[in-house]
Amino acid sequence: MTAKTIDGKAAAAELRKRVAKQVSELRANYDVQPGLAAILVGDDPASQVYIRNKERQTEEVGMASVGRRLPAETSEGALLSIIEELNHDPTVHGILVQLPLPKQIKSEAVISAISAEKDVDGFHPMNVAALSNGKDGLVPCTPMGCAMLLKDQIGDLTGKEALIIGRSNIVGKPMAQLLLAENCTVTIAHSRTRDLDQKCRNADIVVAAVGIPKLVKGDWIKPGATLIDVGINRVSKNDGTTSYRLVGDIDYEEAVQAAGAITPVPGGVGPMTIACLLQNTLAACKRQTILRD
Ligand code: NDP
Repeated sequence: MTAKTIDGKAAAAELRKRVAKQVSELRANYDVQPGLAAILVGDDPASQVYIRNKERQTEEVGMASVGRRLPAETSEGALLSIIEELNHDPTVHGILVQLPLPKQIKSEAVISAISAEKDVDGFHPMNVAALSNGKDGLVPCTPMGCAMLLKDQIGDLTGKEALIIGRSNIVGKPMAQLLLAENCTVTIAHSRTRDLDQKCRNADIVVAAVGIPKLVKGDWIKPGATLIDVGINRVSKNDGTTSYRLVGDIDYEEAVQAAGAITPVPGGVGPMTIACLLQNTLAACKRQTILRD
């Protein structure tokens, strides 16, 4: 059996289309334009690419994009002042600070300084609490995108055995909350987990968010399982040049022979992450404007 490839690019394009339609209705009916402020501190090349993509897609769906580029030596105090200003700016409904931050700035302080209702990355402690308590809040974009892909693929997830590999605050833990809310039986694995291969063989759903190229092997996969590969790893092309290619945390070539469906890397989870950021910005804007009591 060869697995179906889950097309994250197409799913993300669909989601962006739905967001764009709602943005245009908001602008026409309420004269409200959602605004997203994206802050980049320093000049890390990968972060520059991410932030440019986010800004371009923000504009493409009809939202306002407010870019802030700050030098690498920016102090924590200076960044917090800018966030405070954006918290009070009524044209900005979502604020994101691209991580990682330079060493002199504590990311926890920055995340907590963003107003919870503008925290479109879903990392603020109030949004973390809302997710774990099953209340309305803003959900981290990557796990939100993974959950959407899984529901598109499988439909009702009730009773499924889900294995999440990785327990980070931005992917693994919120992913577990989302799948619990969908009535999955959730196992969270991490670097100290024993017999990971056995746990994998028991899973109807595997979400791999580790950062180790091809950690999950083909013979770990339960036949017909649905696999979501969050990992983005650069590996050398081994062609005598310095060029590289991207691979996931799952050995795609092996796993595709056993699984029922699998996300590719690239073209799987990545595109959904930015589309979910736009979805969160739209939701935040509605709550701050037309849905406010
Ligand atoms: P972190 O480094 O924060 O977390 C990695 C997790 O993997 C940790 O919980 C760690 O365990 C666990 N781990 C490490 N080694 C093993 C192992 N041998 N077996 C089982 N678990 C292990 O990473 P992130 O969650 O931030 O990201 C994970 C991957 O996803 C990265 O490749 C990243 O680039 C990618 N990513 C992709 C996104 C997208 O949009 N597609 C968005 C965000 C991330 P422990 O806690 O014990 O250390």
